[in-house]
Amino acid sequence: MIVGGGIAGCIAAISLIEFYEVTLIDKLAIPKEKIGESLAPAAQRILKKLNLLDDLEQETDFLYKKNMGMQSYWGSNQAHIMDHMRNPDGFVLNLNRKAFEEFLRNAAEKRGVQCLWNTKLQRSSLESEWNIQIKSNDSKKEPLNIKASYVIDASGRRSHFARGFGIKRQIVDKLMACWISLPNKEENTMSTITASENGWWYSAIVPNNKRIIAFHTDSDLIDRNRFNTLESFLDLARENKEISRLITVDQSTIKLHGTVAANSTLLEQVSGSRWAAIGDAAISFDPLSSQGMFNAMASAMQLKELIGEFGFSDELIKKHLQQTHQIWNHYLDHKHIFYQAEKRWENTEFWKRRHL
Ligand SMILES: Cc1cc2nc3c(=O)[nH]c(=O)nc-3n(C[C@H](O)[C@H](O)[C@H](O)COP(=O)(O)OP(=O)(O)OC[C@H]3O[C@@H](n4cnc5c(N)ncnc54)[C@H](O)[C@@H]3O)c2cc1C
Repeated sequence: MIVGGGIAGCIAAISLIEFYEVTLIDKLAIPKEKIGESLAPAAQRILKKLNLLDDLEQETDFLYKKNMGMQSYWGSNQAHIMDHMRNPDGFVLNLNRKAFEEFLRNAAEKRGVQCLWNTKLQRSSLESEWNIQIKSNDSKKEPLNIKASYVIDASGRRSHFARGFGIKRQIVDKLMACWISLPNKEENTMSTITASENGWWYSAIVPNNKRIIAFHTDSDLIDRNRFNTLESFLDLARENKEISRLITVDQSTIKLHGTVAANSTLLEQVSGSRWAAIGDAAISFDPLSSQGMFNAMASAMQLKELIGEFGFSDELIKKHLQQTHQIWNHYLDHKHIFYQAEKRWENTEFWKRRHL
């Protein structure tokens, strides 16, 4: 039983269906529009292994656009260009995120996963097996009880399944993001990252010639009213030279999507007797890393390998825990190095917190 049909849950279901009966539930009837579009090149290896890459490539321009590189204004006003031309795994793929999640859901269904969308986890208890109560959002439907020998929590940052047992998350910072989407008018298709006094900006082009722009800052450092209206968000955006240049379209074509949590968090216990957490449910990354979707996929694949090797044993619990903590420690080191590289506003609270 897998709770959460996002990227981690779908990849886990697709990789396990060869060996197990798998039920995958998601509280949403269809995936929603989300920020988070840059898929790290190494993810293509996983998609290839699961025979998903050819189908994905048929849908280029609708599902993804190849990303030529990143121009970053980080540490100085000078653009630093990182192209993806020499990466042996290919380009970063800029996804139509909602369509990509639909693509994965469809693939899971086609391969025989029992998919229950619009269905929420209610409660669970473990005897010799898990007894799980789920409930459709359709109020006319009665709750359903499902028995499962193993549960994977792939429910994202809220780790709904693990939270049900009182497991908390270690919270490292208060990063949040506010984002807009707009038609793209620029010929330069590279992504942009640019630091500012109280946070950092990011912009990328996604399929259908759309652009997204996001501002990242700590939730306690900004007057939240600035994110309530498009006008006040655009005023903030125009204070940044590089981002201001990207907003040349008619304001009526710009959509404000609002705020999302973007902080680094770790579930304090990522596996236990007959369950494990993967993807954001186990670790959530700062978007600066652009590794969240790859980690969602890789952690699903790693768990599948461990289940194959150790069954639902204590060794599985130990190994999954070790692997997750290794990734977390590695991630924290890298995060520190990246934030250290920006020294222009050392005395503002946002950067002081990250230089500690
Ligand atoms: C601002 C921002 C920018 C980002 N940019 C990037 C980027 O450029 N590249 C990148 O790789 N990553 C990026 N990420 C991170 C990336 O989006 C996540 O790491 C990724 O979505 C994790 O996938 P997941 O499947 O683990 O979790 P999620 O995508 O959160 O999926 C969880 C699923 O579980 C379902 N669910 C939750 N609770 C329940 C329940 N009780 N019952 C049933 N279903 C439930 C949800 O509906 C959802 O479909 C970004 C994140 C943020 C916040």
